[in-house]
Amino acid sequence: MQTAERKSLATEVEVEKARGLTIESLAESFATIELRGGLCRWFIQLRWGAVLGAVVTIIVAASLGVQLPLLWLFLTLAAIALYNFAFVYLTNPRRSRRADPHRCALMQATADLVTLTMLLHFSGSVENPFAFFFIFHMIISSVLLPIKWAWGLAALATVLFGGTVLAEHNGLLTHYHLSPFPNICQSSLFVVGTLVAFTLTIHVTVFMTSVIATRLRYREREVKELAKTLQQYAEELEEANERLEQLERMKSTHLRKMSHELRAPLNAAKSLINILKAGYKGELPPPALETLDRVSIRLDEMLAIVNSILTLSRVRDARLTQEREWVDFGRIVSEVVESLRANALAKNIELQVDLLRGVPHIWGVPEALREIASNLIDNAIRYTPKGGRVEVLLYPHEGDIIFQVSDTGIGIPPEDLPHIFEEFYRSRNAKEFAHEGTGLGLSIVKSAVEAHNGEIEVFSELGKGTTFTVTLPTRTQISGKEVAGESSIPSTKETVQP
Ligand code: ATP
Ligand code: MG
Repeated sequence: MQTAERKSLATEVEVEKARGLTIESLAESFATIELRGGLCRWFIQLRWGAVLGAVVTIIVAASLGVQLPLLWLFLTLAAIALYNFAFVYLTNPRRSRRADPHRCALMQATADLVTLTMLLHFSGSVENPFAFFFIFHMIISSVLLPIKWAWGLAALATVLFGGTVLAEHNGLLTHYHLSPFPNICQSSLFVVGTLVAFTLTIHVTVFMTSVIATRLRYREREVKELAKTLQQYAEELEEANERLEQLERMKSTHLRKMSHELRAPLNAAKSLINILKAGYKGELPPPALETLDRVSIRLDEMLAIVNSILTLSRVRDARLTQEREWVDFGRIVSEVVESLRANALAKNIELQVDLLRGVPHIWGVPEALREIASNLIDNAIRYTPKGGRVEVLLYPHEGDIIFQVSDTGIGIPPEDLPHIFEEFYRSRNAKEFAHEGTGLGLSIVKSAVEAHNGEIEVFSELGKGTTFTVTLPTRTQISGKEVAGESSIPSTKETVQP
C-alpha cells in the first residue's frame, strides 16, 4: 500500500475511534476500512487493467483472423469503463457520504460477473478458454465478503454463464462462434459436461477459499487478543514499576532525613567530648581521658555509618535523577588514587595504575562514579596485607569502559561472595583483618553501577586476592538519540613503589 493511502487509512481509524467504537468493533471496522479504502480502490485499478487487457486480446485475436462481433465487445468494455468511473466516484475518500463498503464490493462483483458473461457470450461463450476467469471472482468474493454473499455470487455465476450457454445451445440466444475454432457449442454432451465441471469448480473454489479465509481470520483474531493481553500486562508492569520507583524515592528521602537528623547530635557530642578532653571544664584524670578517647572512636564509627547511609541514598537517587553530565571517569580515578596513595604507602603496598588513552566520557552523576572508584580502591588497599600489590586498570572496550581493581589481599571466602553486595554485610575474615568498616561500601558501588546501566563482577581466591571488574556503557540515549561519549584524557601509566 502507498504511504499516502496508509496515512488516509490511519486517519480513518482515528475517525472510527472518535465515533466511540470499542476495540473489538474497531478490529471489525478496520477490515471494513481496508475494503473501502484500500481494496475497493485496488479493484478499480485492476479493472482498468482488465479493460486494457481485453482490448489488446480482442485486437490480437481479430488480427489473427478470429471473427468477433467487435461492436458488441467494445460496447461491453465501454459499459465496464463507465461503471468503473461510477465506483471511482463512490469510493472517493473526499466524499462525505460513501457507499457501504461491503455493498460496494458486492455491486462491483455482481457487475463484473454480468459483464464477464457478456464478454464471453460475444466471444464464443463455452468455446472461450477465458471462461475460467470466473474463478478469480469467486476467490476474491470468498475472501472479502460474508460467506453467504460469496455462495450467492457463485450461484449467480452458474446461472448467468450456464443460462447463456444453454440458451445459445437451444438457439434462444445468438451463438457467436469463435471461428476458426470448432463449433463445439452444438454438442450437447460437451455443453453439459463443461457446465457440470464449471459449476463444481466455482463452488469448490468458494468452499476452499472461504474455509482458508475463515481460519486466517480466526488466527488474526487470536493474535489481536494476544496482543491486547500483552499490552495489558505491559501497562500493569509499567504501573508496578512506577509505584516501586515512588516507594524507592520515599525510602531514600526518609533515609536521608534520618541521617541528617542523626549527624547533628553526633557531631555535637564529638565537640562536647573535645571540650572535655581539652580541659575547658577542668582537668580530667587519665582513665577518664582514655574513656573519652574510646567514646570518641565509637562516635566516629557511628558517624561513618550515618555518612555511608547518606551516600547510599544519594547514589540510589542518582538512578532516578535526570541531572546528568558528561563525566571524565579517568580523571575521577586519578583523583581517587591520589587521595588514597597515602594509605597504600602506609601499608607498603605497591599501587600500580594503568589508565589507557581514549577512554570515553560517561553520561552520569560524578558523585556516584567517584563512589565506585573510591570504594573499590579503598577496599583493595584495606584488605591487602602489608607489602602486597594493588592494580588499577581503566580501558575502553567495544563502546564500554572497563574499570578493574585487583589486589593480592586476603580474598573473599566462596560462601560470602554472593552476599558482599548486601547492605552491612562483612565477611568473617574481613572483620578479623580490618576492624573498621560498615559493610555499606559495595552496596553503594552496586547502586552507582546500576544507576549507569553498568555491570559489576567479582573474582576472588581466598588468601590470594580479589579482582572487581566494572563495565560502564559510554553510549546513551539523550532526547531519543543515541550519543557516544568522547574522550579527552591522556593515557597515564605509573607504578608507585613503596
Ligand atoms: P565500608 O562500608 O567501610 O566500605 P566494608 O569495606 O567492610 O566497609 P564493603 O566495602 O561493602 O564493606 O565490602 C563488603 C565486604 O566485602 C567486606 O567486608 C569484605 O568482606 C568483602 N570485600 C570487599 N572488597 C574486598 C577485597 N578487595 N578483598 C577482600 N574482601 C573484600
Ligand atoms: Mg569498603
